[in-house]
Amino acid sequence: MTITDRIKNVRLDLHDLCAKYHININELKLLAVSKTHPASAIQAAYESGITEFGESYLQEAVNKIQALQQLPITWHFIGPIQSNKTRQIAANFDWVQSVDRKKLLNRLNEQRPAQLAPLNTCIQINYFDEPQKKGVKIQQLSELLELACQLPNIKLRGLMAIPPKTDCFEKQLSQYLQIVSCFKNYQRDFPQMDTLSIGMSNDLEAAIAAGSTMIRIGTALFGPRESSSH
Ligand SMILES: *Cc1c(COP(=O)(O)O)cnc(C)c1O
Repeated sequence: MTITDRIKNVRLDLHDLCAKYHININELKLLAVSKTHPASAIQAAYESGITEFGESYLQEAVNKIQALQQLPITWHFIGPIQSNKTRQIAANFDWVQSVDRKKLLNRLNEQRPAQLAPLNTCIQINYFDEPQKKGVKIQQLSELLELACQLPNIKLRGLMAIPPKTDCFEKQLSQYLQIVSCFKNYQRDFPQMDTLSIGMSNDLEAAIAAGSTMIRIGTALFGPRESSSH
């Protein structure tokens, strides 16, 4: 299947799912996760109408951003962040979704180039306290959100989460409903948050049913990634 065919299928699925759950499709953003796929694949997806792309590996991402700089693409960084990498993230991306500690917020704020708009930022939460996983624990979320909205070069947009992987729809849904309810609670104190980034290729329906505003889709759009570590 070509990328164009896959995109068509994903769009049909999204259309059906939004109808099934009474969701306005214009309020659900599609982020195409292009990590490990070449610039040519991104260009093909762009030509099929996709404009927002997510990357997880910084050097690979920066190479592709440079190769495609003539295209008006919105780039999201969604991978784990080492603090010595914040400068390149601040300089090259429009969004970052994987911020999980104050040090990263402060560095991104200081390093955001003055001529660029504030960096759109989602805080990654580790809602289920999984020890091996990135993301801030809910107990520390308020402090991080408070800092994020004080920094002039950071624009707080919302939360991102990757819940425990399971193929059981009911379990996926129950996990996402808990995350949605957490998001809505924090939205009362931080009403500028308009983004809840949840849902990937294998749990898309549950995320949409629960109330995602941004799904991050890789495999379903670009096909399987080659390396098992990716
Ligand atoms: C790779 C990745 C995705 C996309 O996963 P698929 O299962 O390929 O859709 C989404 N979010 C994050 C944070 C990722 O690293």
